[in-house]
Amino acid sequence: MPLRVTFLGTAGAIPTTDRNPSSVFVAREGEELLFDAGEGTQRQMMRFGTGFSVSQLFVTHCHGDHVLGIPGLLQTMAFNDREEPLAIHTPHGTRGQIKGLINALGNRPSFPVRISEVGDGDVAYRADEYEVRAFGTDHDTRSVGYALLEDDRKGRFDRERAEELGVPVGPKFSRLHEGESVELEDGTVVDPEQVVGDSRPGRSIVYTGDTRPTEATIEVADDPDLLIHDATFADDRADRAAETAHATARQAAEIANRAGADRLALLHLSSRYAGYTADHEEQAREVFAGDSDAVFVPDDGDRLEISYPGSE
Ligand SMILES: [Zn+2]
Ligand SMILES: [Zn+2]
Repeated sequence: MPLRVTFLGTAGAIPTTDRNPSSVFVAREGEELLFDAGEGTQRQMMRFGTGFSVSQLFVTHCHGDHVLGIPGLLQTMAFNDREEPLAIHTPHGTRGQIKGLINALGNRPSFPVRISEVGDGDVAYRADEYEVRAFGTDHDTRSVGYALLEDDRKGRFDRERAEELGVPVGPKFSRLHEGESVELEDGTVVDPEQVVGDSRPGRSIVYTGDTRPTEATIEVADDPDLLIHDATFADDRADRAAETAHATARQAAEIANRAGADRLALLHLSSRYAGYTADHEEQAREVFAGDSDAVFVPDDGDRLEISYPGSE
């Protein structure tokens, strides 16, 4: 089942000619989720071909570079005669700000928009096979990060063993795989434990939005496949990172290490680095134990396919 991340906007607070403000698009088996929507997000969606069928929008905090794309995006959705509801999740105490943005020009979207507030540990969205959980972050306004956490997958079905035990090929196979015991014609009972292996972990993505390094980022997911972390500054401006409630690339890498992340995407680079990302990558690699491509600064439009743990 594909799980694909598209980095729509990778800039810090001020966009550059190459980088749009924050937005990350995630597609999972026909469902589309958007994390933050800085100004111009709708054009990035057009440029990189994501479509507009987003059902859930997760807002990390109400700074302009994370939310100013919402009014334009909703207006375009309305022009497209959208009827499907859109759910917007936003930190506690910010519903009014989101509502104000949407209705600023007296517009009312032609489709239902539901805004709900979330805090540390809340399940913002529960789907069939995964959930999106909010976690506390440390920024200079009300803020959360989000983790997409897939449920464990069923263990592997040992078809050969099932046949050896005399289970006839057919519906009893799937009942066993679903965890039910089945009775054979001779009265023998076969239990799922005899033919189904241990359950296997699902995939997970953690997105912090803007934040200083926090413990909650480490705790929200076990060994995430991808951590997308604030890396506004490099070491040269570590003091500035602390002052402005952001992180350095090195701090992001320390968090990634402690979280057991597989890969680390460094996001939200300050415009002062103007496309120069070598220091960020080098400083993060000094502390992050992973393959050489495990740490990266994505460009706008970069895509990443997340595979199941252990399947590579
Ligand atoms: Zn920001
Ligand atoms: Zn911010």
